[in-house]
Amino acid sequence: MEENTTVVQPLPGVKGFVSRRHKMLIGGEFVEAASGKTFPTYNPATGEVLAQVPEGDKEDIDRAVKAARGAFEGRWRKYTPSDRGKSIWKLADLLEQHADEFAQIESLDNGKPVAVARVADVPLAIDLLRYMAGWATKIEGNTIPLSVPGGGYLAYTLREPVGVAGQIIPWNFPLLMAAWKLGPALAAGCAVVLKVAEQTPLSALRLAELIQEAGFPAGAVNIVTGFGETAGAALAAHPAVDKVAFTGSTEVGRLIVHAAAGNLKKVSLELGGKSPNVVFKDADLDVAIPGAANAIFFNHGQCCCAGSRLYVEKGVFDKVVEGVADQGRQIKLGPGMDLSTQMGPLVSSEQLDRVCGYLQSGRQEGARAIIGGQRVGERGYFVAPTVLTDVKPDMKIYQEEIFGPVVTAIPFSDPGEVQAAANDTIYGLAAGIWTRDIGKAHSLAEQLRAGTVWINCYNVFDAALPFGGYKQSGWGREMGHEVLENYTETKSVCVRIK
Ligand code: NAP
Ligand code: MG
Repeated sequence: MEENTTVVQPLPGVKGFVSRRHKMLIGGEFVEAASGKTFPTYNPATGEVLAQVPEGDKEDIDRAVKAARGAFEGRWRKYTPSDRGKSIWKLADLLEQHADEFAQIESLDNGKPVAVARVADVPLAIDLLRYMAGWATKIEGNTIPLSVPGGGYLAYTLREPVGVAGQIIPWNFPLLMAAWKLGPALAAGCAVVLKVAEQTPLSALRLAELIQEAGFPAGAVNIVTGFGETAGAALAAHPAVDKVAFTGSTEVGRLIVHAAAGNLKKVSLELGGKSPNVVFKDADLDVAIPGAANAIFFNHGQCCCAGSRLYVEKGVFDKVVEGVADQGRQIKLGPGMDLSTQMGPLVSSEQLDRVCGYLQSGRQEGARAIIGGQRVGERGYFVAPTVLTDVKPDMKIYQEEIFGPVVTAIPFSDPGEVQAAANDTIYGLAAGIWTRDIGKAHSLAEQLRAGTVWINCYNVFDAALPFGGYKQSGWGREMGHEVLENYTETKSVCVRIK
């Protein structure tokens, strides 16, 4: 029998981990759901069940919040900034030691190519943790000069942890989103209850073991698996949670805001996008074409910042669209655990149905697929890289976030026209600009209502660079020192000294 040598066999540790009876981390212990219930997580390349995980719900969230509160008011509060930094750094070291294992777990559970997880998800998570470990000792207040007549006052600010943070994350970058959330919260001194996405619980459960090993006190980090409507909703509404941080759809973001209203907990949101990617005819097309393809096809288009509206200046429209299509044609689809795979399956059968629904709607509304436009195969959740033209502004595929490998290409004539079109969306997460004219590039960057603008590049992420949305793409920023605002309160202290 001939073997396909590019398929990676799971490491022994991964095999053992995946097949184990999974438990959640609450109060420093690995526990079942209070109800005893479990639910399956699937391998999206085959549709087969990978593992059963606890179905945590309201009661488990309540236990986890109590544990977090206990840690926040107890042992975790006594950790010095340096102790916190060391624990986060240790977690990064442990993650690095197990990098191959995490890349495989992520590939099996989410579907993404193991080779991509190994060079993107895992190292970015490690880097983010190290960056945030450094911040633990650098969260400082100010001394404030007062103008009270006669003087005689000393005033200063303290920046204190907001308290217990509830964090809810999606399935597109399961490990990385966990790191983005945990890193800054722990650096600031918050205790955390993290609810992971039902589709991809495994990497966070493995991370929970490393969290234990890294020496965080019981309850500082609690990781709950379960469904959004039950566990997630309970966390967002919990009266003893001081802050909720959410990444996911704009629709659920709105539910989070409502749920948070009860005790007016602080809210930060990282939501959807329909990001414009603008190619001018003076761009270096040898760079812009693969760049535009990467902007939409990276992570199978399951990126909140995917460059899903491709605007191309008339004169090079056909060349760019054909070039992006050609890149799409060359992408090798397959299971994530095959090293030759460049694009894996979508995460779930629901996501497959959603994306195929959009493709059908595009066809009905008169868009034309230059490549793709359909599901691939009968097994697994594969969708062909798709480039759509003949797109009109009133079409659903042009307005709504598809979250799949589907780009709509639209021609434009001048910078004013493309600026208006690019901003004509409820979203404002990211944008791309490709041109050799630096004046044009910076002036459009200034006009775009988006939290990140990439010029002559796309999908460049760095732990130091803030990320987040204008308009309905969110509230607050992830990463950089700005994210610390989400997890700290400022206390003004005013002292009469004369
Ligand atoms: P989603 O429903 O917004 O899920 C994100 C997270 O929120 C998950 O942990 C989910 O839990 C949880 N959740 C769901 N309903 C909740 C509720 N009522 N209260 C509290 N938490 C809740 O996203 P999805 O259904 O997985 O994907 C749908 C669409 O969202 C995608 O097609 C895409 O457009 C968008 N999306 C955006 C991002 C992003 O990074 N901005 C990421 C993923 C998806 P469960 O998964 O356990 O239900
Ligand atoms: Mg899965």
